[in-house]
Amino acid sequence: MCKNFRFKLGMEFFSLKEAKQAIREHAVLNGRQVEFVKMDKVRVRAVCNKSCGFIILVSKVGSCHNFRVKTFVDVHQCARVFNNKNANIEWVSKVVMDKFRNVGNMSANEIMDDIKKSHNIGISPWTALQAKHKALDVLEGDVAKPTHNKF
Ligand SMILES: [Zn+2]
Repeated sequence: MCKNFRFKLGMEFFSLKEAKQAIREHAVLNGRQVEFVKMDKVRVRAVCNKSCGFIILVSKVGSCHNFRVKTFVDVHQCARVFNNKNANIEWVSKVVMDKFRNVGNMSANEIMDDIKKSHNIGISPWTALQAKHKALDVLEGDVAKPTHNKF
């Protein structure tokens, strides 16, 4: 996802997991933190944790298997947050995985520095370390398995 990504009403996702990931990533890239206030088999609703008015609801489309953005208010009245809990292990591991591939291994401190510089987000040493392990696990898995294209 790039920084200019915008949700649109009617945009569809194949799964709620995918929608949730997109919502979280969108929040991180925009320097905001969202909370998932409703999450069940048919819908996910997220609001800004500063209750500034931002809201997004993605829910199942009738009898289809897809999920669609049904409600979306894309206005954050709040200020950017620095220590963003949406920048979780999964997200950080995705960011550092490319670095590991290109630049090689990094320490937890280097990861924290890098995320701060590239995304203006503060993460904890614990998150940095867990993300590092997760990324290394995936990369080692890549080597063990022959690469194949999922699509
Ligand atoms: Zn907000």
